[in-house]
Amino acid sequence: MPRVSIDGVAVDVPEGATLLEAARAAGRDVPTLCFDERLAPFGACRVCLVGLEGAPGPVASCTTPCREGAVVDTRDPVARRVAGAVVELVLSELPEPPAAHTELAAVARELGVGAPRWTGEVHGAREDEPPHPYLALRHELCISCGRCVRACDEVQGTFALTATGRGFHANVAAGIDEGFRASACVSCGACADTCPTDAITEVSLLALAAEGDRA
Ligand code: SF4
Repeated sequence: MPRVSIDGVAVDVPEGATLLEAARAAGRDVPTLCFDERLAPFGACRVCLVGLEGAPGPVASCTTPCREGAVVDTRDPVARRVAGAVVELVLSELPEPPAAHTELAAVARELGVGAPRWTGEVHGAREDEPPHPYLALRHELCISCGRCVRACDEVQGTFALTATGRGFHANVAAGIDEGFRASACVSCGACADTCPTDAITEVSLLALAAEGDRA
């Protein structure tokens, strides 16, 4: 059972635990975006960066295993600056600021990121996709975190979703880009439940979410 130091607090963690798990065990709140504890760590977004003594730079805490004696700084200034820049870039590709109730908005608040200094070209809006009876889809809000694809694979076992495109054109598609309704989707809602931006939302929750944002 490795013992690690998280912001000066000694924590014993199970063998194989990640730095993120150790930080959370120590009560430290490390922001994450592509991470969902129900899914295998992905390590794609670089928002969960922390300082690790001896490492040449910040490391992704969600995929870095704890080693005996590791010394971690969850408030490492470089890690926070890079994570903030990542979130700012993500925001710059969206057509609008994230809704207040979303995880993306919460992460931006946590890292002190406001309106992005740049605005990119907005991609992904789909007018051609037939509406889904239970899911509201806004592809232009997709940030390619991969959580919906992994939830459909790992939680639901349906494999209905695919990550598509590259760079600014990265997005998510159902089936062989045939739309959610025609795909193997069984409307379980796992993708909507994990989506951090409202790119996929349950239709029945739209009004509630809007109400919460106004409160
Ligand atoms: S609602 Fe459909 S696409 Fe979403 S996780 Fe469930 S089966 Fe997959």
